[in-house]
Amino acid sequence: MLSSHYPFKLPPLPYAYDALEPHIDAETMHIHHDIMFKKYVDNLNAVLRANPIYQDWSLYDLLAYNDDFNEEVGTAIRNNGGGVFNHYLYFDGMTPEKNEPTGQLKTAVIRDFGSFDNLCACMKAAALTQFGSGYAWLMFDGTSKLRIVKTPNQDPPPLLILQPILLVDVWEHAYFLKYKQERDKYFDAWCSLIDWNKASKRFTAG
Ligand code: MN
Repeated sequence: MLSSHYPFKLPPLPYAYDALEPHIDAETMHIHHDIMFKKYVDNLNAVLRANPIYQDWSLYDLLAYNDDFNEEVGTAIRNNGGGVFNHYLYFDGMTPEKNEPTGQLKTAVIRDFGSFDNLCACMKAAALTQFGSGYAWLMFDGTSKLRIVKTPNQDPPPLLILQPILLVDVWEHAYFLKYKQERDKYFDAWCSLIDWNKASKRFTAG
């Protein structure tokens, strides 16, 4: 998805809509993936349709070099391209098939956080203190350290500095139907759904 370019397509959900029950309900998945994620894809395509000089830019470049655009186009690309990138990673980062952290990522988590429980606690603190809508991320600085980052709205993370490993969507639309205002309970549920295999691949791919 990161290296793809206009016209962007909505990636299918990598599991059944009800596969993450009871942690995340099927209705939330339908609304979140089929309507909200799709809207960001459609809106990003509309922005690029009107700005053909950027149609061969990859999603990564559109977000990483966003400061190069004029303000109006840059904001539209950041909001909608960020919505595409963030949702792609969010849905792709969960699995109904529980798996464990392994390999180099496991080593790095133990080194930087002491334990996976502590990593989850640190990400949870970021997720719960993200004021309003946004995301909490586990990212890697490319050479030495894992970092926890918060981003507001659909802003992409600082891609030129850090490499995304994991993220949790803390917009209310991600959890309100089932958890109402209880973002902490949703976070705990999300933690039990992390696809560590994919997180490990992202870590070693960078
Ligand atoms: Mn969302």
